[in-house]
Amino acid sequence: MKAVVIEPGSVLGVLGGGQLGAMFTLAARRLGYRVAVWDPDPEAPAHRIASHSFPLPFNDQQTITRFTDLVRAVTYEWENVPAELCRALEQQRPVCPSSAVLRVIQDRLGQKGFLASNGFPVPPFTGLTVPGQLAMAVAEVGYPAICKTATAGYDGKGQWKILRESDVREVELALLEPARPGMRWIVESLIPFERELSILVVRGADGESCTYPLAENEHEEGILRTSKVPAPGSSAVAERAAILGRQVVDRLEGIGVFCLELFQLPSGALLINEIAPRPHNSGHYTIDACTVSQFEQQVRVTSGMPLGEVRLLSPAVMVNLIGEDVSVLMKDAGCRTLLDIPGAVLHLYDKPVIRPRRKMGHVTFLGESFSFALNHARQFRDGLAKGPTLSA
Ligand code: ATP
Ligand code: MG
Repeated sequence: MKAVVIEPGSVLGVLGGGQLGAMFTLAARRLGYRVAVWDPDPEAPAHRIASHSFPLPFNDQQTITRFTDLVRAVTYEWENVPAELCRALEQQRPVCPSSAVLRVIQDRLGQKGFLASNGFPVPPFTGLTVPGQLAMAVAEVGYPAICKTATAGYDGKGQWKILRESDVREVELALLEPARPGMRWIVESLIPFERELSILVVRGADGESCTYPLAENEHEEGILRTSKVPAPGSSAVAERAAILGRQVVDRLEGIGVFCLELFQLPSGALLINEIAPRPHNSGHYTIDACTVSQFEQQVRVTSGMPLGEVRLLSPAVMVNLIGEDVSVLMKDAGCRTLLDIPGAVLHLYDKPVIRPRRKMGHVTFLGESFSFALNHARQFRDGLAKGPTLSA
């Protein structure tokens, strides 16, 4: 099916106004669209660059009507927006990805169940609804394990590692027992992966799809810290990841931008950690290093334009600025020493309050060679780690 192209000048709606919503808004505006941002948090950065801003609860009936009247199509910036709202909007406007896809993805158990039942490789997992059965669930997948809330987690929140039997009681007390009735969790085998990878897949309404180069990701305390592109190592792995990504999104019948987070095992085999139904932090490099960014693709798919040709213009290494990193960087000495590093492109998210573990911005290092970009990203990270002792 060919989608009808929504003319530039029209309003596109985005649910969620964090940095991803803001980057979508910037890309949409560059293509001549106006954007209506709906995020209950009035401080969400995308509100400040939106043409229309709705800082109102997602269950506000009047806002549903006003928003629907205004926009020609809707997308979202993260998977924790209410699927019910997407379903209601979808009665009158195209929403992409669809509420049916969102429903599958936003529940970790549903998502892993979908993947496993379609023969896609995932870590061994099981569901948990009764806190007292944690020991049994872990026994099923084996030690060490990781227990995650089935819904609403991000940046490693709501996750606990269970390395040995004595951890079971601790997790029950800290996470499971205080939870409200009806909570569900997923217990997964903790995978001794060699490295983490991610692959962006874009799929249009006509079923055409494209993928971006494979990224290698490093996390710190469950939060993405660095993405390297193209992922070093064998191109066979990149090919397998791209094929897997396309197959999963085809099977989902997903329309939009998707990211598969992957674990590479020492054997070279790939397991799917999770799917994001939206642009991904590990794809931020596409803004500075690709012909068409992941956000422009989101605009294109939402507005029914053909997908953009993906071409990597430069190797890239992206470093996230987390919590106080941004203060270190923006102090005079930090700014002069760190932003002077060749190839550094700075993005700050305009979040009014710095909190520990909060993503405040990122820096993409570009270079003619991968090692040029990587060495400068390392120099930058070493400088950040020196923090307040940094001298000009
Ligand atoms: P994000 O928002 O960063 O994607 P998240 O809160 O959605 O994170 P996950 O992606 O499931 O959660 O987990 C965060 C990180 O924890 C993973 O990138 C990985 O480093 C580690 N992790 C999660 N599940 C496993 C697992 N089964 N085995 C090994 N490590 C894991
Ligand atoms: Mg993840």
